[in-house]
Amino acid sequence: MNKTMINITLPDGSVKQYEACVTGLDIARSISNSLAREVLSVTVNGEVLDVNRPIRSDATLRLNKWEDPEGKHAFWHSSAHLMAEAIEALYPGTKFGIGPAIENGFYYDVDPGDEVVITDSDLPRIEEKMKEIASEKHPFRREEVTKSEAMEFFGNKGDEYKTELIDELEDGTISFYRSGSFTDLCRGPHLADTSPIKAIKLLNVAGAYWRGDENRKQMTRIYGVTFPKQKMLEEHLELLEQARQRDHRKLGKELELFTFSQRVGQGLPLWLPKGAQLRERLENFLKKVQREHGYEQVITPHIGQKELWVTSGHYEKYGKESFQPIHTPQEGEEFLLKPMNCPAHLEIYRYKPRSYRDLPIRLAEFGTVYRYEQSGELHGLTRVRGFTQDDAHIFCRPDQLKDEFKKVIDIVLLIFTTLDFHDFTTQVSLRDPEDMEKYIGTEANWEKAENAILEAVEEKGMEYTVERGEAAFYGPKLDFMVRDALGRKWQLGTIQVDYNLPDRFELEYIGEDNQKHRPVMIHRAPFGSMERFVAVLIEHTAGKFPLWLAPDQAVILPISEKYYDYAEKVSNFLKNYDIRTLIDGRNEKIGKKIRDNELKRIPYLLIVGEKEQESSSVSVRRQGEGDQGVMKLEEFARFMQSEIRNQLGSTGTDV
Ligand SMILES: [Zn+2]
Ligand SMILES: [Zn+2]
Repeated sequence: MNKTMINITLPDGSVKQYEACVTGLDIARSISNSLAREVLSVTVNGEVLDVNRPIRSDATLRLNKWEDPEGKHAFWHSSAHLMAEAIEALYPGTKFGIGPAIENGFYYDVDPGDEVVITDSDLPRIEEKMKEIASEKHPFRREEVTKSEAMEFFGNKGDEYKTELIDELEDGTISFYRSGSFTDLCRGPHLADTSPIKAIKLLNVAGAYWRGDENRKQMTRIYGVTFPKQKMLEEHLELLEQARQRDHRKLGKELELFTFSQRVGQGLPLWLPKGAQLRERLENFLKKVQREHGYEQVITPHIGQKELWVTSGHYEKYGKESFQPIHTPQEGEEFLLKPMNCPAHLEIYRYKPRSYRDLPIRLAEFGTVYRYEQSGELHGLTRVRGFTQDDAHIFCRPDQLKDEFKKVIDIVLLIFTTLDFHDFTTQVSLRDPEDMEKYIGTEANWEKAENAILEAVEEKGMEYTVERGEAAFYGPKLDFMVRDALGRKWQLGTIQVDYNLPDRFELEYIGEDNQKHRPVMIHRAPFGSMERFVAVLIEHTAGKFPLWLAPDQAVILPISEKYYDYAEKVSNFLKNYDIRTLIDGRNEKIGKKIRDNELKRIPYLLIVGEKEQESSSVSVRRQGEGDQGVMKLEEFARFMQSEIRNQLGSTGTDV
């Protein structure tokens, strides 16, 4: 019998012939044994599969290694199974929810029964068991099952979580993966066997509601991470430790920037004086930049009539999920907390007739919005229920769109450079060419908008990726992702074109032709929100803010009580130069004062004693850099001012 041959196209475009039913692993082996050892999953015609799944017909093939997200994903997802197997061995009768791979590792939601509690102190024992099983090199075996077989298996096992999941699946699409004594309902893909999982660390235990529903059972979520090499694990743990040190929740408390009060309500940050100062300075900086770019500040209320949100479409999006309406006692009016600032700005546009000569109109507001988040989702300043957007809406003619877009990009770039975010990526989101039905607005306008964005990023010489199908239904957009000092990615600013809201609110301007036309709208928020931005800034700088932004710029340390009066004199002198100072007048040894104040991340430490008092000077230490020598007071003030000028560049020093 003749063997059927199939063509396999590799990523470099080369085509090789193999017998049908060849596996990705066979193909890797045919290239080199070392490659075969590194392959963790394969992508066949765009679908990620196990390395040992037979390929039956012509296909494109990519071999995914550790460096590829699809490779890591298979590795970590397999590790979740491994952990489940260990837990089942140690805690017989445990029921299992879901166990996915996540960005940095994996978790599994488990229910060990009401009698058993798994805590952080149990993790080493589970880890040991995992290592033992991994070294036994259990293969992951895929098995396609019918829905009734699947139901029967997990029904007999008494795992109601799995049967609930199976119930929602379509017959003919269900598979099990077996490894060692453990069987899971799973789509895959998995590693060929457990042996590549060499380094294992279970990180922590948390509570998680089954299916994220707080009315359902709270399960035990166990997080872990694994690597093919011990050294990689050690590096990762070091990074986690650094991230822990920089955690904005920890630093926010230590630096007295913000707090939360259960009595005020969860997810509602309280900005402490130092944090409020920092935020105000950021706002002033942005206001100044915006003023120079022709923006006008407006102020709008925190609530709006329900009808407003129905008109804008936000009621549909946020209404049911969001906070409950507020009713007036006599008039029967219904208000909602605002989830967005846009509708009020649209009404400001509408309050008088506009001509083509008035456009563009740029309305800016630091507008606080409220959105419901489940309590379990709240996280420091990055996931909150009330936050302030550095919002603005630009209303312009279609022919002005590109220029306006470029100006917004200028603002975003200026902010990034001023705040030392030099590593960022941008993504242009366009329509899905396969599904043009779902977008509103005319074809001509979309063309114009998409080209405007693409030309704007090109003309700005920016590096960008294009994602087709990622546009909002109302318009294309440009997103900015910054990479922080630890290499973590954060989504920050966004610029969006919108044809929808001007339509819904029937915005008009009188054109040169004396006819009515509809303006285009741009939504933009370079920081995203003040809360999120400050959180990212804290973690990026580890709380060592640039001098212009630091809540306290210098702390004066008299070496003994005798020099307290001189310290006050220095403080008053620097105040005349708008330099913000503190005095550490505690009766402590100077060495201790220096150490304590270094921890507070105050940029300059000024030590004063006999010598300094006599010569009207200060001994200067730069935080983290040590002694900078003695400077006359005026010399020091000018030195500070020039550092600030350098940091703020063209935006000036009066923020
Ligand atoms: Zn699985
Ligand atoms: Zn908006």
